[in-house]
Amino acid sequence: MFTITLVILSIFSLTIPSSSSDQQPQPPADVCIIGTGMAGSSVAHFLRQYSSSISQIRMFERHPIVGGRMATVTIGGETFEAGASILHPKNYHALNFTNMLNLKVKGPSASDSSFSLGIWDGQKFLFKTIDSKSKSPVVQYFVSLANSLRMFVRYGISLLKMTNFVEVTVDSFLKYYESKESRPIFKTVEDMLQWADLYNLTTQTLEEELTGLNYSPLLIQELITVITRINYGQSCKISGLAGAVSLAGSGGNLWAVEGGNWQMAAGLVNRSDVTLHLEEEIESVTNLQGFYELNSTKGNSYRCQVTVIATPLDELSIHFTPKVSTTERKLQHTHATFVRGLLNPAYFGLDTVSDIPELIGTIESSDLPFTCISILKEHNEKDMTYKMFSRQSLTDSLLDQIFSIRSETIRINWGAYPHYHAPEKFSRFMLDEEHLYYVNAFENAASTMETSAVAAENIARLIVSRLSGYQPLKLYGMKTSTLDLNLQHQEL
Ligand SMILES: Cc1cc2nc3c(=O)[nH]c(=O)nc-3n(C[C@H](O)[C@H](O)[C@H](O)COP(=O)(O)OP(=O)(O)OC[C@H]3O[C@@H](n4cnc5c(N)ncnc54)[C@H](O)[C@@H]3O)c2cc1C
Repeated sequence: MFTITLVILSIFSLTIPSSSSDQQPQPPADVCIIGTGMAGSSVAHFLRQYSSSISQIRMFERHPIVGGRMATVTIGGETFEAGASILHPKNYHALNFTNMLNLKVKGPSASDSSFSLGIWDGQKFLFKTIDSKSKSPVVQYFVSLANSLRMFVRYGISLLKMTNFVEVTVDSFLKYYESKESRPIFKTVEDMLQWADLYNLTTQTLEEELTGLNYSPLLIQELITVITRINYGQSCKISGLAGAVSLAGSGGNLWAVEGGNWQMAAGLVNRSDVTLHLEEEIESVTNLQGFYELNSTKGNSYRCQVTVIATPLDELSIHFTPKVSTTERKLQHTHATFVRGLLNPAYFGLDTVSDIPELIGTIESSDLPFTCISILKEHNEKDMTYKMFSRQSLTDSLLDQIFSIRSETIRINWGAYPHYHAPEKFSRFMLDEEHLYYVNAFENAASTMETSAVAAENIARLIVSRLSGYQPLKLYGMKTSTLDLNLQHQEL
């Protein structure tokens, strides 16, 4: 399906100027970046890495801290990820940032891999893995074997196909780490996805994709839906690509940055010699022929030759002159509710708390008030910290049914990620023909910390190439490329 032989590109185009006048040395440019999440901080990092002719980089953040959707929450004196929490082992930009910034990787603990899972339909558990509280590796091995068997009995051979589907997609994604010499600069998200053989996955839903691959309907309706609901708050009607990314986020060896993933953004901002404007919201961007004027809610005005929008525009009211056009997109809101207390077994038709699975996933049903509940920390058998996701805010009276003890509750309403559908439509990376760029156009492909970094790296290259007068590559050329992981790590 993902034929690598089709992936042909020119290694020559990068060095071809668009016209002779473009070869004049350019004066140093001022770049303004709106947003300090993974996308904005990565743009700053890659601009510094790829160009010495950027004079000043200003970054604007409406909140008092950097990181955006990478944020932590403190409940009962302990800190947990409140937004983006897990990274895939092949998220190489994030891995390289973590190493470069001397941050510590928090890997999965033995107990993470043996957590118990239950699939709840609102009335009963449709499926439950066996839970073992034993710390013995031998016992855990046999419990895990028994659980694999139980899953196999319920969902059949399709389970094995699921791994293959994810691996093929991840392999295609790895092309974005190829060396710059063999990797084009992309002006549009469509070109970027097509080059990596990922575009077709955005043209049909995950359900259509998997049904076409003869997956068992039960697997799609239950386990796969549980995963898409946990990771994107949506059903398997999301695009095949968002679905594959979501499934990749349910595999093994997932990791996070110890102390909080937001430290990647903080570290990149610190290292990139930027002027950081915290608590300064940009409310308008005006193209004044030759530069952009950015006006902030503090009444300040900034002139920038290049402006990068590194935040979803969908729920913002930044005023652009002239108007820019973006593809209409709705954000999926995920309400994250953090509770210190104890679940009520009676709510789940169970006798004891220990019978409740550590991760409760749910299927699509209009009756269900939440999408998942998981234990973040077991302080003791009567005192736990839980994280719940839901599409609507959870009322106190509902929480009082779900929990028998609730000593602290924190609610966060995230405009979390795009509401995915298929075929997916994309905004352009370039919002005009000059220097107004939009990193989050890529979020319609998939929204993750790593995809933000990958899109940001492309935008940084696009800016540098266009500032120096070189046109972005013509996409398809003559040479088949190969992945060079050694090169990739040195380069990053
Ligand atoms: C609940 C949840 C769970 C998730 N789980 C994962 C996960 O496990 N793994 C994963 O990889 N991804 C996950 N994601 C997705 C991930 O968080 C995002 O894809 C990624 O962090 C997006 O980064 P960004 O920089 O593009 O945008 P953001 O992080 O949203 O950054 C945009 C920044 O711009 C600022 N801003 C907006 N408008 C203005 C303005 N006018 N002026 C100044 N500043 C402005 C915002 O305050 C924000 O800080 C999750 C997201 C959520 C919400």
